[in-house]
Amino acid sequence: MKFLFLLFFAAYSLIAHEVGNGKALLLPLSSPHGIVTLNERNMTVLPHPLNPQLGFVILPIDYYTPPSLLEGQWSTPDGNLSLSIEILKAPYPTEVLVVESAKVTPPPETLNRIAQEKAEAEKIYATYTPTRYWDKPFIRPIESITTSEYGCARTYNGVLKSYHGGVDFRAKTPLPILASNDGVVMLAKDRYYSGGTVILDHGEGIYTCYFHFSHMDVQAGEKVTRGQPIGLSGATGRITGPHLHFGVMIHGIQSDPIDLFSQINRLFDTSTIF
Ligand SMILES: [Zn+2]
Repeated sequence: MKFLFLLFFAAYSLIAHEVGNGKALLLPLSSPHGIVTLNERNMTVLPHPLNPQLGFVILPIDYYTPPSLLEGQWSTPDGNLSLSIEILKAPYPTEVLVVESAKVTPPPETLNRIAQEKAEAEKIYATYTPTRYWDKPFIRPIESITTSEYGCARTYNGVLKSYHGGVDFRAKTPLPILASNDGVVMLAKDRYYSGGTVILDHGEGIYTCYFHFSHMDVQAGEKVTRGQPIGLSGATGRITGPHLHFGVMIHGIQSDPIDLFSQINRLFDTSTIF
């Protein structure tokens, strides 16, 4: 049935794809020109890192997007092409966590600080830097096992608060955390929920986030290179134990970092897995 459905759309759309909520779709395109519009959001088509005659675009799907069919358009100097993206419900698990109660119901005197930190981060993520700082695949910030995947629906002390916006890596003792790729430090400070926090801008709307550091080695405004140590993992902020939380924002939308960087790295080499 689904096959027939897609076949029907393929008859008048050039491009038809499926993607789970909370994931991003990297769409390879036959030219590096134009703009893709989806959900009233415009995304610039980017040149392929190895072949500038080709292009690609990254289409992030917000976690709370219900199963649906989104219609978009690729506008190029040579004409417009329609595309249809079927949003599927991704099979995310549920997690039950117990943390310090002040990190679930924050005391009134901390609300201002929390609001300011949220606004500061949103301003960073809404900024689009047209420069691409990287020319190699993204790397994992730490070689360790994953203790919590992106997308889990999370209950804190019995209350459903949110979903897990990144991936957690085990780091029982303080370990050096590496920049996932070349970029510029946008923020390096202690925050209420995420503790010692570093945010890197990689250009073209991609930001990586590193939480719960015990120590930070970089400052805002500094350039970093792929693999450079940016701090030490720790147990600061809202945590159940020491670990590294690693996240990615793309065009202002939180996405699954493992899935997104696997897709980006495939542009370099089909055997490169994030
Ligand atoms: Zn986490």
